Amino acid sequence: MNKIVVIGGGMAGLSAAVFLTSKKNPVTLLEASHSLGGRTISYADNSGSLYDNGQHIMMGCYHETFNFLRTINAVDNFYIQKDLEIIFQRSGEYFPLKADRGLYPFNLIKGLFSFRLITLEERFSLLRFFIQLPFSSERDIQKLNAEEWLIQNKQSDNLRKIFWNTLIIGAMNTSPVNASAVLLRNILLKIFFSGRKASALVIPAKPLSEAFCVPAAVYLQNNKSEVCLNERVVRLETDRKKDRVIGIITNKRVITDPGNIISAVPLYVLNKILPGAVSRDFKMSYSPILTMHFRTRTELFPHLFIATTDSPVHWIFKHPGHYTIVISSAGELINLSINALENLLKVELVKLFKIDMNSIEVIKVIKEKRATFIPAIDPESRPGPESNFKNLFLAGDWINTKLPSTIEGAVLSGSASAEMMNPNII
Ligand SMILES: Cc1cc2nc3c(=O)[nH]c(=O)nc-3n(C[C@H](O)[C@H](O)[C@H](O)COP(=O)(O)OP(=O)(O)OC[C@H]3O[C@@H](n4cnc5c(N)ncnc54)[C@H](O)[C@@H]3O)c2cc1C
Repeated sequence: MNKIVVIGGGMAGLSAAVFLTSKKNPVTLLEASHSLGGRTISYADNSGSLYDNGQHIMMGCYHETFNFLRTINAVDNFYIQKDLEIIFQRSGEYFPLKADRGLYPFNLIKGLFSFRLITLEERFSLLRFFIQLPFSSERDIQKLNAEEWLIQNKQSDNLRKIFWNTLIIGAMNTSPVNASAVLLRNILLKIFFSGRKASALVIPAKPLSEAFCVPAAVYLQNNKSEVCLNERVVRLETDRKKDRVIGIITNKRVITDPGNIISAVPLYVLNKILPGAVSRDFKMSYSPILTMHFRTRTELFPHLFIATTDSPVHWIFKHPGHYTIVISSAGELINLSINALENLLKVELVKLFKIDMNSIEVIKVIKEKRATFIPAIDPESRPGPESNFKNLFLAGDWINTKLPSTIEGAVLSGSASAEMMNPNII
């Protein structure tokens, strides 16, 4: 087999495969599951309706993701805000954090000064933080977590609770105490200092499989690449010198002399199929996300989505025919039974919207225990796209992209790995 082999058909594997295919290097993509997408997979219920494994939010600053979407002709599958707008709900009232169409970045500052969930003094201290941010030094905060850094910068308890927790838990799926200050700085610069569109939110307008995976599969298959579903890599075989991979053993066949390979599976899978592909000392811990899809008889709110402030529920999204609750950094909740979770979330919905509990029909509760890695460590300690084997390259949201565990990190890792593979091939 002469084609390049990509292992794993999540966003990282799809990105690597599409990138290589677009450079006239067709690939064979091996995916263990019955469909593509990995953590961005959608499931069909008995009636064939699709529900996402988890609600995903993207941002205008997801540049690599937009390049990928343009290549596979899928940009129209997403709602793209013109400017940042988040509606917060507290005690039945709605509080917009909204930039208007005015001149960037003054439109963001104006939006901040109209945000009524924080005091005037807090608005000024947030503005001071952002004015100083581009001049801050990464080196000075290398040993700090996000919480320590924010406190050092006089961000009050209320400001941290309302603004920073929403941003950090939303973007990094962990509490500020567990988030690296360096990583927070990286993403703040991307979101707020790289043009007006960067902070706008981007929401899939279709189930994720239709938004990302189907167009990617069509692109690959129309351009001489091969997508092999239900094909799980069990083991990678190496030569005696242990510097090349010489065989890929899957549940269906043995691929000998595979040439170049991109592994786009999570770290814990890579460690099983080829122990020692990266340093054995490199470890990651993971943070869970809970998702609940449900229906109600009445409309809950007039917006596309809302963020809540005084509830274990972080976000609620409205889709045609159903709603989706997101609880990020779900901690202990993840260990509750599905029944207990359904009840807990119904009680929260009754509190938030004063609706009748019997009007809530739960469609599905999804527990993702290893939704994202915890970005506590300095991003530079994560491995790059090179492995300890000459013809094996690494992709996946966990490699060092200087980004947290996100779609953008996964897509960037895929193209970076493909580029690193062999400048002569590309
Ligand atoms: C509930 C939830 C909500 C999230 N929300 C957001 C969000 O709002 N915004 C955001 O940007 N990110 C979000 N993320 C994170 C984002 O989904 C991930 O960072 C990204 O999808 C990771 O892609 P990946 O390709 O690196 O890994 P994965 O998606 O894990 O892909 C790995 C692939 O490898 C396959 N595989 C595994 N083992 C083998 C094997 N042995 N052989 C062959 N194939 C194999 C898997 O089946 C899978 O398809 C969320 C994640 C979850 C779970």
